[in-house]
Amino acid sequence: MLRRAGPSLRHFLLERKSSAGYSSYSGEVKMSRPVQAQRLEGIDKNIWVEFVKLAATYSTVNLGQGFPDFPPPDFLKEAFVRALSRENHMLHQYTRAFGHPLLVKILAQLFGKLLGRDLDPMTNVMVTVGAYQALFCCFQAFVDEGDEVIIIEPFFDCYEPMVKMAGGMPVFVPLRPKAPQDGKLMSSADWQLDPAELASKFSERTKAIVLNSPNNPLGKVFSRGELELIADLCVKHDVLCISDEVYEWLVYDGKEHIRIASLQGMWDRTVIIGSAGKTFSATGWKVGWTVGPNRLLQHLRTVHQNSVYHCATVAQEAVAQGFQRELELYGKPDSYFIQLSKELQQKRDWLVQSLDAVGMKPIVPEGTYFLVADISEFESDVPDVPDSDEPYDSRFAKWMVKNKGLAAIPLSAFYCGAHKNNYNRFIRFCFAKEEATLKAANDILQKWKREKTRP
Ligand code: PMP
Repeated sequence: MLRRAGPSLRHFLLERKSSAGYSSYSGEVKMSRPVQAQRLEGIDKNIWVEFVKLAATYSTVNLGQGFPDFPPPDFLKEAFVRALSRENHMLHQYTRAFGHPLLVKILAQLFGKLLGRDLDPMTNVMVTVGAYQALFCCFQAFVDEGDEVIIIEPFFDCYEPMVKMAGGMPVFVPLRPKAPQDGKLMSSADWQLDPAELASKFSERTKAIVLNSPNNPLGKVFSRGELELIADLCVKHDVLCISDEVYEWLVYDGKEHIRIASLQGMWDRTVIIGSAGKTFSATGWKVGWTVGPNRLLQHLRTVHQNSVYHCATVAQEAVAQGFQRELELYGKPDSYFIQLSKELQQKRDWLVQSLDAVGMKPIVPEGTYFLVADISEFESDVPDVPDSDEPYDSRFAKWMVKNKGLAAIPLSAFYCGAHKNNYNRFIRFCFAKEEATLKAANDILQKWKREKTRP
């Protein structure tokens, strides 16, 4: 073996690097130039990291993060097992990048029926890694540097950083609560857009609006009138609509979920986003999709192709089988979509009663599996810290999980930085939980109430 005389090659290289602006310490070379891309500035903090950790550390009852603690339906689990154990070992390999053929075919069939139009599985549907990736593809594909994107507050929190990462400017417009009639509980329907305020947010720079109906965190299901208002503005200003409909099957009290893409002038400018995680109670599978016109989806395919490329084949196969069953049972009592929303409505009613009984006033959701409650009556237990930057509801939620073992998410997490203190006396609960979990939450609240009222 050849050996160099004098200092080793490694030593020689280290010295070269130090003199070129790198620092070395104990032989370890560290970079001194900034590594973070500028587009990440200001978006590095994330509510979920902190609250998921708090819940894992302190909670005995977790109604925080949005996932069911009950299993997906048997037919779906069985479909997964069948897909795994079938002779066809190709289900363990890559499938078609823009969606497993069986899944895009069934999605095109179902959404074609729902939208009343013929859909081409290959060009009008694209499968994604959960709805998250569908959203990411939309912002990357449509938003240019300086484009404005209208976001309705409160909003699913990732919209804002995703718009910013694409170089866009989020423009926020709030749903404003109006007082309920005397003696009535507030409903998510009482939170409405001010039409003039919404119209004022549209400008020449507006590229898209993000609509989330049914809405996380309020559970608001936008009415036909509200959707028409948004649609008219989209058409007038030639704006795209990114329509996050992941809770499309979770609507209560006979309320109808209306797809904005079905309104006049909207198909051509709307991308519908869905999630098997929410639809089939299997959030860990991370199967999502987009449905829309090819002229929009072709650009999503470019982002998808050059980022994740592909989603897990077996999970797609099982979700396809799940949809096949649902299509056969469509509108029938045995349909999982019908059964799930029936069960969740009962859970919603139960949590509404439980919160109302202790004075944590619930805003009754029309859809989703979330419920927002007013914590004002509990303020004396969790004193305010004057001059703190942290919104009160965030401190309240942290105190609650640490002292009462009950995890929830502060509503301020669903507002932009500048508006976090506008509605900071509310927390969000997820009620997609087993009866025992909801009962345990009720026990905590009842005990807390008794301790409050004890002389
Ligand atoms: N949109 C909304 C409104 C959501 O609540 C969620 C999940 N909490 C998502 C998108 C992401 O869904 P997925 O888990 O399918 O990525």
